[in-house]
Amino acid sequence: VFVCLEGGEGSGKSTQSKLLRDALDAEGYSVLLTFEPGDTLVGRELRRIVLSPETGELADKTEALLYAADKAEHVETVVLPALARGEVVVTDRYVDSTLAYQGAGRSLDVAEVEQVARWATGDLRPHLTVVLDLEPSAGLGRFEGRDRIEGESLEFHERVREAFVTMAKADPDHYLVLDARAPVAEIAAAIRKRIDPLLAQ
Ligand code: C5P
Repeated sequence: VFVCLEGGEGSGKSTQSKLLRDALDAEGYSVLLTFEPGDTLVGRELRRIVLSPETGELADKTEALLYAADKAEHVETVVLPALARGEVVVTDRYVDSTLAYQGAGRSLDVAEVEQVARWATGDLRPHLTVVLDLEPSAGLGRFEGRDRIEGESLEFHERVREAFVTMAKADPDHYLVLDARAPVAEIAAAIRKRIDPLLAQ
């Protein structure tokens, strides 16, 4: 089972993915918790390049390709092997982040960005993507100055948010949208409820 958590800055993805991992672990499932960008050796370098303020301005296409490279490495060396071992894979960000940030956010052609991302990942899609939806002004404050992307305008982050929600609405069978302002335990319970039938398959 392949589950993805998506959302804007400060939406609580990392907290929720850890809670999910811990809960499933405690029940005896083998769970791999992973993230993008950066959870491979080459990915760590790519993450440093795309997110370091020292990188300065990157051409939009360069950025999209670096994220695609991170994904290719991530899927081939981390995600697919874990799925093949029968593990539950929980990833903090995946293709939708690229469609939202590099596509909608940067105003590249979303269809083109999607083609590249699907190619990079062999079109591997999560069984479920959880979108933790949060107004950007509420989430951004938590990370001020942390990395390059935090310097983007509020409008950029509004486009990112809108993209996540639009993708989710178009495919309700594979998405769960939750209000990220809800209590942590409540969000965790809602995610669990939605994942249970997938685990039973
Ligand atoms: O999820 P995490 O906080 O580790 O993401 C690091 C940064 O990378 C975030 O600021 C996010 O906005 C950015 N990012 C991006 N495009 C992606 C994935 C992440 O701009 N495809």
